[in-house]
Amino acid sequence: MKQFAILGYPLGHTLSPQLHRLLARELGEQIDYQICQIAPEQLEQRLPELFELDGFNITIPYKVRIIDSLDRLDRTARNHGAVNVVGFSAAGERVGYNTDCVGFVRTMQTHGVEIKGDVCVLGAGGVGRMFATECALRGCRVTMAVRRDSMEKAEPVRAHIRSIDPQAQVEIADIASLNAGEQTFDLMINATPVGMFPKVEASPVEASALKKVKTLFDCIYNPRQTRLMQDGEAAGCQVIGGLDMLVWQAVAAQEIWFGRQFKNEQVERVIAQLQEQL
Ligand code: NAP
Repeated sequence: MKQFAILGYPLGHTLSPQLHRLLARELGEQIDYQICQIAPEQLEQRLPELFELDGFNITIPYKVRIIDSLDRLDRTARNHGAVNVVGFSAAGERVGYNTDCVGFVRTMQTHGVEIKGDVCVLGAGGVGRMFATECALRGCRVTMAVRRDSMEKAEPVRAHIRSIDPQAQVEIADIASLNAGEQTFDLMINATPVGMFPKVEASPVEASALKKVKTLFDCIYNPRQTRLMQDGEAAGCQVIGGLDMLVWQAVAAQEIWFGRQFKNEQVERVIAQLQEQL
């Protein structure tokens, strides 16, 4: 039986073991998937046991710190400067990947959304940085909308993107300025935790901000339909929730670990099963 794990700290409630077991079952594989909650001061000492596994996921706060312990990064991890999956090459090299970006791209593809034109990313934290980078490197005009006091925090993200592509188009805006509803966006992505369970009545922007938005993607997956998504539907946007991305990033991890491809219907089955369990 192959052995996998998720590394993070703290790791309260995580859907990863359940999700990875459901996916492995679709491939006809039985896996052992452990939760490795390791405190920062113990990481160096405990890393060897993770490298004995067949692969592992990494979450907060180790997505950047793990890089120094790897032999190489694939293009996704290099572009995003963060690793959420470790796999092993045939030669035994420790390779870091970023499958969050693959999960995002495949979610858009399965919903028929082209990543192009004007994109607005709400929030510039871990996942917001990934969305802004991925969209800008695909040629989109990206607006990173953040709280007025956090505008400086978005600067390094823009600098990182421009270090890869000096022509990349990235603006930083005050999130409150969106409420005027004057800007047109092909895609708006919520990369803030605002609206997440239990504060389900909150929304990162007012409904008026969605007037000229074509597609709204909220990467929150609990609740399934956030207040922002409800406002998006009322405004006539195409609305997509975060569960698909969560599942597709795990699919991409297993495709690396097992060297096999999933069919769309297998992934859809797992999304439906997980939806019932949330
Ligand atoms: P993070 O690193 O903590 O970043 C959160 C961002 O949201 C920061 O830029 C923060 O800005 C901003 N923010 C927080 N409260 C805000 C408010 N009231 N108004 C405007 N901006 C606000 O978190 P993360 O890891 O990027 O995750 C963000 C969300 O994405 C979480 O809900 C997480 O569950 C979800 N997520 C989903 C998936 C998926 O697969 N579906 C994957 C990863 C993450 P400040 O600097 O101003 O605080």
